[in-house]
Order: sequence, then C-alpha cells, then structure tokens
Amino acid sequence: MEKNEAENMPCYFGYLKRKEAKRFLRLAGATDGLYLLRSSATQLGTYVISITHHRKIHNYEINYQKDQGYSINDYGSHMALNKLIEYHMLLADGLCCPLRQACPKPSGFYLPPAPLYEMYRRATLEHVHKKHKLRGKDLHQYVDEHYDELLPEVIPRLHEGMAWFHRRISREDAEHRLLNVKHTSGLFLVRERDFGLYAISLLHKHKVLHYALVNEGGKIFLSCNDRRSSRKFDSICQMVEFYSDNKEQLVTRLKVPCVAPELRRYSEEPNGVSSSSHTWPRLPFSLSTLRYRGKMVAESNPPQDIFPVLWDNLYMVNKDARPSETPVYNSIYADPEELRDRRLELDRNRLRLDQNGELGSGNFGSVLRGIYKFTKKDMAVAVKVLKAVEDPEARRAELLQEAEFMAQLDHPFIVRIVGICDAEALMLVMEVASLGPLHTYLREHKGTMSQNHLIELVHQVSDGMSYLEERRFVHRDLAARNVLLVSERYAKISDFGLSKVLMEDQTYLRDKTQQKLPLKWYALESVLQQKFSSKGDVWSFGITVWETLSYGDKPYKGMRAPEVVKFLQSGQRLEKPTGCPETIYQLMLRCWEIDMNKRPTFKEIERHLSHYLTMAMQT
Ligand code: AMP
Repeated sequence: MEKNEAENMPCYFGYLKRKEAKRFLRLAGATDGLYLLRSSATQLGTYVISITHHRKIHNYEINYQKDQGYSINDYGSHMALNKLIEYHMLLADGLCCPLRQACPKPSGFYLPPAPLYEMYRRATLEHVHKKHKLRGKDLHQYVDEHYDELLPEVIPRLHEGMAWFHRRISREDAEHRLLNVKHTSGLFLVRERDFGLYAISLLHKHKVLHYALVNEGGKIFLSCNDRRSSRKFDSICQMVEFYSDNKEQLVTRLKVPCVAPELRRYSEEPNGVSSSSHTWPRLPFSLSTLRYRGKMVAESNPPQDIFPVLWDNLYMVNKDARPSETPVYNSIYADPEELRDRRLELDRNRLRLDQNGELGSGNFGSVLRGIYKFTKKDMAVAVKVLKAVEDPEARRAELLQEAEFMAQLDHPFIVRIVGICDAEALMLVMEVASLGPLHTYLREHKGTMSQNHLIELVHQVSDGMSYLEERRFVHRDLAARNVLLVSERYAKISDFGLSKVLMEDQTYLRDKTQQKLPLKWYALESVLQQKFSSKGDVWSFGITVWETLSYGDKPYKGMRAPEVVKFLQSGQRLEKPTGCPETIYQLMLRCWEIDMNKRPTFKEIERHLSHYLTMAMQT
C-alpha cells in the first residue's frame, strides 16, 4: 500500500480526533506554537494541524489539490506536507501563530489508524475479487497498488456490511426492531428508505426518532441541519462513527447498534455464501459488525442462539492491530459499573467453553477458548482448565496461587485474570492473546517481521516487567514462550505459575523446592544459590530479547544446564543474533552481568528501548 505521506513525520499523530489532539497538546505543556499534524477521522484524506496559542487549541484543515499541492486557507501552496510545515514555521500566514515545536509523543505511542481502515481494506479486497476475479497474492498486490483510486468505489457502500444497517425496512419495522431490544437510550439502526435515501432510527427514552439523511453530490448530512452549515461526510459509516462520539443535533449519541436480524441468518451458513440477492456478502464483515468500536453489540435474540456459530468470529484477530485498537488493552474493570460487581470467583452460568477450541496446553491441562458474559458486554476469554491428576489438592493450590497473584496485576502488557471458576473443574479465566506464544509465532513468520518491529514487542515486555519490578513482584519464568501475542504488534506477559512477591526487607527470595526450573533462562545466582529477584528477571529478559531477535531460536542449543553454567562462568555469552542492532546486543550483555547490581533495572531498560524506538522512527 502506498504509505501515508505524513507517516514518517515526527509531528504526525495518525487519525486523532479533535479532543484527543487537545489532550496530547495539553499533556505536552500547551506552549505557544506547539503543534501536531493529524488525519481527520471524518474527512477521508484530509490532514489537520492542531496548534496551541494562548492556551487554546486551534485546528486548521489542510486543503489538497492535485496540481497545486497543500495549503491552509489558500495561503501559499506546497507540493509536500513537510514543505508546508517548514513554511509555517517561518510565517504564521493564516495561522494563529507560527509553528514552533512539534508535540512530543508519549512513550509507547502508536499511530492510531483510520477508524474504518480495517473494514475498508476488507471491503476493497471483496470488491476487487468480484470485479477482477483476482485471488491471493495478486489480489492483495492489486489492492495495494490501487488503494486510493478504489476509495470512491468502496467507501460509499461500506455501510452495507455493518451490523447496524438494516437495508430496506419501513419506519414501523425499524421502531419494532428497536423497541424489541432491552435498551433504553442510544440504540440505533440505519435503514434504506428509498433507493439511495437513508435514515437513522434512534431509540431514546422508549421513543424512536427518525433522522433522514441527505446525499448531495456524494456528501451526506442530516436533513434536520441547515444545508450550508451542516457537517458533511463522505460516507454513512463516517457519519455513524462521528455521531457515536458527538450528539450535536441528535437527541442522544449513537451508542449501541441494533443488529440486523438477517446477519444472524448469514452467520448460520458456515460457508459464508449468502442466499440473498444482495451483491455484497456480509459474513466477511462479521468481525467489524459484531465488535462495534470495541463494544459488543445488542442482540435481539438470546445469545445462546448465536454462540455456536460465532466462535471463530469472536476470536478473529486483526494481526496488525496496535495495542489500543484491541479489546484487551483497557482493563474490563476500568468500567465502574463492571468494577462494582467484581469478584474473583466467577459465575459458571456466565461462562461458555468451546470444547473444540484448544488454545494450548501445559502441565496442568489445557487452555480452551471461552466467552464470559459481563454485566454490559461479552468477552472472548482463555480458560485454563485443571485436568484430573493424582494429587489434585496440590495442583489446585498451585493454580489458585497463580490466580491470586494475577489478580493483583492490571497492566496492558500483562495478561489479566478475569476470575476463577470452580465448577466441573477448577478454571482460571483470562484475557485472550489469540496469536499464542511469541517464540512459535516468530518461527512461523520469520520473513515478515522486521527487527524494529521485534524491538517494539520486547519494549512492551520491558514496560510490563517494569510494572512488576515496581511492585516487588518476581516473575521467575520470563521467556519468549511465556510472552503471548494479541496481534503482531501487541505482546503480553503470561504464566505466573512460578511468580512470587518479595517482602519489604527482602532483596531476593530463596526457593529450594525440587520443581523443574527453566535454568537456561536463569541468572547464575538463581541456578547456583536459588536466589530470585527482579534482577534475576532482568537476566531472563535478556534471554527473551535474544530469542525474539533470533526469531524464536533456542538459547544454548545442544548444551545441558551444567554446561551452560560453565560457559557463563568462563565469561562467554550467547552470540549476537543476525541483524540485531549493536546497542540492543549491548543491552542484552548488561542483563547478563554476573554481579546483579551491574544489571540495569526494568525501568532503565524500558526507557532505553523507548528512546531507541523513537530514534529509529525518526531515521
Ligand atoms: P501456560 O501453561 O500458561 O504457559 O499455557 C499453555 C499454553 O496455553 C500457552 O503456551 C498458550 O499457547 C496457551 N495460552 C495460555 N494462556 C493463554 C491466553 N491467555 N490466551 C491465549 N492462549 C493462551
């Protein structure tokens, strides 16, 4: 795909809304001339400069014309965006003041993609497949090469794949559908009134209100608005996206989409072939339609009816999703309403297991796919199920200990526990990381992930570990096999089976149990004296980085644990993985200092990697 021209510019913040731009500028001090460049989430292909002046944030749309290039309010025109920025650094020329300093990005910042990006990509693939009968690599290549040209062909019809689009139904039917679902305010659907004419039907305080949409020369707006001053959109999807955040003339925001009943019919056809005369197959959209901006949508049938057919949809991942675009970035308990009912013991009736969906297995048993029904939403979960063993009580105690440990943690780069369910077996219910363990994923996707991409992942691990270090929690089993991937850009630390908390006065803890320990990941003081501390975790982190940058290779291949000890005592270390940047290898070597005091802390490591990534992004 042709790269967004702004993507390499340090001042570019991706698809930010006005409010978010304001927040970043305020966070960075809001000094006069502090600015950022962003893409408009409502006007496709339009850039906006947000700039601070006298503590206020001003927003300027950048116009683009093919032959004249970029300009703001017709002041000067520039063939490239960076030229426009350079120009306005010298002269205000139409802006409230000249641009002075680009807003710094907070550590761990990811460019938010276009809100409709993923849906658009899928729709474009469908469209090109149909039109040109292309498949596989050829199909993707064609879409990449013609991405922007395809935009006007695909965007106006994007709503046809959305859960809230009910096609051609009467006003009365719309009212019936909305009033039939247990929701009071903000439940909505979009319907076709006549060919090419649409309306939004919106439930508020047990009443349904209808808003007709006007389409004038491809620009869509609400008919209740004044033509000239109305907010115009390129597509119905963008309009819905906007009014789901902003009430403006509506009686309330578009909060919860009402799912079109035929969507369930389609999803019951396992091959995804629609029997409808509709030219657009809807099943490929089930990911976007069932997850509406991260929230589960309202179903007008009991959920049991759809559970069996939706497993794959629920677990489908966008492998390019940045952390904040996934449902497991924010804690489910960040919502005060969910927090109110929070208990570690879960209600078995709210948990559904997919007996055929094993995500992995370990000594304790298997990890199955599941769905947990919270008060407000359903969540895809991973469920560790304790298998029947000879000494069940000891195993139960271990799993409960792991659960209690996890219950104290709440961090985006650590797998969170949802709770424990003691029913047909003891079950530990967790957030799901569908792409599984990092080491196996890397082995299978060697050619497609760059070194910087891998460093981004280990940076996330260092962030999670820094959180543990600060709380005096020692993981004791940090390794690439225990880092799970939510997407190719999002890693979470898991497996707290060996973890312990250090007391206030303890610098390390001793463990002389005879359990099997991952010695090749351990610092010498842990192997030889059974001493464990965060500095021991730092050693394991070094090995994890090595595994990652070697694309899942095994450390000290062919050596047994006693040989590894001798190897390390003689001053030797694992070699630099091919292609690994020198500074990253130096960091690994610092993690493997025999004297634990010479090893960096996770806090230092996190800062170092964050700095490395910022510099890498700028070069
Ligand atoms: P564990 O013993 O905790 O390492 O789990 C064994 C295997 O189950 C892992 O290697 C993963 O393949 C899978 N697994 C564990 N937890 C999760 C999770 N939260 N999400 C997805 N898969 C998981």
